[in-house]
Amino acid sequence: MHWKGSVGGKRVYAPTCRGAKMEIPANTCSAETMALNRAFIFLGPPGAGKGTQSKRIAQSCGVAHLSTGDMFRDAIGCGTELGRVVKPIMERGDLVPDDLVMKMVEERLAQPDCARGFVLDGFPRTLPQAERLDRILEVCGFGKPVVVDFWVSPETLVRRLSGRWTCSVGGEIYNIYHAPPKVPGICDHDGGKLVQRADDRSEVVKERLAAYECQTKPLAEYYRRRGVLDAVDASASMEEVSRALGKIVKCAEGRDGHL
Ligand code: AMP
Repeated sequence: MHWKGSVGGKRVYAPTCRGAKMEIPANTCSAETMALNRAFIFLGPPGAGKGTQSKRIAQSCGVAHLSTGDMFRDAIGCGTELGRVVKPIMERGDLVPDDLVMKMVEERLAQPDCARGFVLDGFPRTLPQAERLDRILEVCGFGKPVVVDFWVSPETLVRRLSGRWTCSVGGEIYNIYHAPPKVPGICDHDGGKLVQRADDRSEVVKERLAAYECQTKPLAEYYRRRGVLDAVDASASMEEVSRALGKIVKCAEGRDGHL
């Protein structure tokens, strides 16, 4: 057991395995956390299909789905201070500074629905985020994460992103090239209006892919060295990718889960 609890939102100090002390927000860990299985990390460029697949896996494993992109979009939609800060950054296709990302993620991981594990979609995206996540996983008694790298060609990515439209009501995702709605601009499920994300415009897509290449791609090597990296060919169909992920999850169940 590596943590010392306290309540009331105050910070607590938790001894790490090496005996050093690290600061974590109170409630990042809870008693239930100790019964936890795994953290899943889906790496890959924007448009690789991480969002759809991570929701599916989270649902089938009965764990929480955390998309940092969705959390920022919610903050923008709710007009919070965080939303006001990150809106121009996201519109340019840049990454949000690590400290803002970590604060939001740490608060989210303290929620009870994360106690049994979670699927991280779009996080970590930089080396400092990955290192800080490692410390959180260690302090909370989580085992080794299951990290999956989504491989896909740049041409496919541009087509996927610039063709992506999302239902403004239920969040259903369409692609005008290979998964169009029955009626253009209208969601098949709830009749909601389909909208294009501001950062899916082609000029912003280029910036997002550039940010991925230089800041996020090196994470695959970071996790490969730690022996926790798997990969899927994300250019395949949604069903094929789901099947490949199912196998990875099954194999991970039998692996040593200790950091
Ligand atoms: P996504 O929906 O995951 O493609 O994220 C949309 C945008 O949110 C990104 O282009 C970034 O501006 C921001 N963002 C999401 N997650 C992170 C993260 N882990 N680190 C930095 N910025 C992020």
